[in-house]
Amino acid sequence: MTDESVALAEAAALVGAAAPAVVRDLISQLVEAGHGGWVVGGSLRDVLLGRAPADWDLATDALPERLVSLFPGAVYENRFGTVAIRRSGELFEVTTFRTEHEYADFRRPHRVEFGEDLVADLARRDFTVNAMAWGRGPADADAGALVDPFGGLEDLAAGTLRAVGDPDARFGEDALRMVRAVRLAATLGFALEPGTLAAIAANAPLVDRLSGERIGAEFAKLLAAPKPSIGLRLAEQAGLLAVISPQLALQRGVSQNKVPGEDLWDHTLRTVDAAPADRPIVRLAALLHDIGKVETLTDGRFPHHEAAGAARADELLRRLRYPRSAADEVVALIHHHMFTTAPTLTDAAVRRFIMRIGRDRLDALFALRRADDAGSGSEGDDPALTAFIGRVQAQLTASAPLNRGALAVDGNDLMSELGLVQGPRLGLVIEELLDHVIADPGLNERGSLLLLAQGILADMYEDPAAS
Ligand code: ATP
Ligand code: MG
Repeated sequence: MTDESVALAEAAALVGAAAPAVVRDLISQLVEAGHGGWVVGGSLRDVLLGRAPADWDLATDALPERLVSLFPGAVYENRFGTVAIRRSGELFEVTTFRTEHEYADFRRPHRVEFGEDLVADLARRDFTVNAMAWGRGPADADAGALVDPFGGLEDLAAGTLRAVGDPDARFGEDALRMVRAVRLAATLGFALEPGTLAAIAANAPLVDRLSGERIGAEFAKLLAAPKPSIGLRLAEQAGLLAVISPQLALQRGVSQNKVPGEDLWDHTLRTVDAAPADRPIVRLAALLHDIGKVETLTDGRFPHHEAAGAARADELLRRLRYPRSAADEVVALIHHHMFTTAPTLTDAAVRRFIMRIGRDRLDALFALRRADDAGSGSEGDDPALTAFIGRVQAQLTASAPLNRGALAVDGNDLMSELGLVQGPRLGLVIEELLDHVIADPGLNERGSLLLLAQGILADMYEDPAAS
């Protein structure tokens, strides 16, 4: 046996040991029915890396209609050309081989060899590490073999991401592959093979033609990587970032008095890496928190960059088709990320802060500040931040009244007791009562509030501007 075939056999045995029984059963059923069944794509790659695959994707020569009849209950998802089979509560996607001439059987006088279709299916895949298959052909014995026509195993061992075939042509066919390259580099901690990187640099402008959804989906995966900076740095170097977000790309070279020798882009990258990987909203806010700095740069300062940044982030996230609720959260975090933690703040100011940010958003905002601090080179928690969080917590524990609903009187009380009617004036009175109660929670008692409301009303009638 050659070294290569030893490596293939070892890898095949490894996958065989890791593949769950359901997957092996599906493959056996396909083989018994005269077809091939292969684990392909990211799942195979992840198993070979010793990572738990998110799902097990299978490929076969059997046509979708055949699969549906072989596996009762299977659902053909036409849009993706995939048949979904449910087994022991899990969903397995089985995709019929796709080749360059898939719908043109009649152009081919005789059926091509089965093996050719498998290799053609692998050849249309993006990177060598994603272009391997493990499984059995129609006549293959029980064990399961690894098919690796493009040297994926070797690239996997070296931690290299390399386009299948001519990178220039492949990125021309589908520009998303370039975004996937930097995303997978981050997810897997891999390096881009130089020819692949050069082809991205040459074809980066094509990304402009992709739909926001497709870019956004890869972006989200990039941000979930252990160190997103690996992919983001590559995206900036290769010119992809300038196409996706010029404002972020322009952070390169803008100086910051944070970590010596590092610029604004370095600060952004450190901040993203420091944000918790399991908090996508905080990660995204970390990436975009200073996106308003470039346009507000004046004499070495960035006045009101948080407001400019919130607007920019909103634009970008709309373009990338982020779900509205997630985008709104990110935009709000960016808008508020410059909050002060000064010990001189009064308790009333702490309560106003809670009200302004919204109780449900506090934790994310603090996580963003911690990441921002780490991104600025500090180590450990900032004592001022810790103290401030303690004060916020104390207010929350004391259940300080922070919104209209917590007031000891409501609109009905004011209408029945003071003869007010529904309308803007009633709203103004309630707002003003809330201001008083936030400043002094001791006032939140029915009698005091009705007295206060009377005073407020009297002032309103005296002040013609308010009526
Ligand atoms: P992940 O583990 O994050 O899902 P993945 O590589 O499995 O990564 P998917 O989007 O699930 O990514 O794609 C599954 C497989 O389909 C890939 O491994 C690759 O073989 C192929 N593939 C996906 N997108 C493309 C593309 N744009 N061009 C070519 N092949 C692709
Ligand atoms: Mg996948």
